[in-house]
Order: sequence, then C-alpha cells, then structure tokens
Amino acid sequence: MSDYKYGDCSFCGGEVTEQLVTVVRFYKGRIIIIENVPAGVCRQCGERYYRGAVVEEMERLMESSSKATRQVMVPVMEFATC
Ligand SMILES: [Zn+2]
Repeated sequence: MSDYKYGDCSFCGGEVTEQLVTVVRFYKGRIIIIENVPAGVCRQCGERYYRGAVVEEMERLMESSSKATRQVMVPVMEFATC
C-alpha cells in the first residue's frame, strides 16, 4: 500500500481509496488474472484507477505469464437473447 493520492473519481466525484484488487485482462489471446494489485477504487461507483508504476508492473507480469503461480479453468458462455 502507498500514500499515493488518487484524487476524487472523475466519473462521479466520489472518494477514491486504495485497495488490493484482482485484475482480469486479455493479453495476446489469453485471459490473465493478476491478484493483489493495488488500485484506487471509488467508494461510490467502484471505478478503478491504477498508478503508472502499477500498470507497468502488470504489463511486465503479463509478458512473463509463463511464470504464473497457478492456472484456473475459465467458463465461457454466450449471452442468450430472449
Ligand atoms: Zn465514482
């Protein structure tokens, strides 16, 4: 955790506080899950904000995804219209 000040949410003006979140990203045709990512999260609408250094570290991790700590099965579903 850091003392970084995120400022208020640019969508709703709510207070943004830092939490550890799970980030799900598509990267080169794969889904990559990164846990315990420090992010600013809006207390009102849930919008997330990432510091530049955090984004860079996530990119570095995604490039070295062969070093993943574990693998999970991901269900894929299609939304059925009524
Ligand atoms: Zn917000």
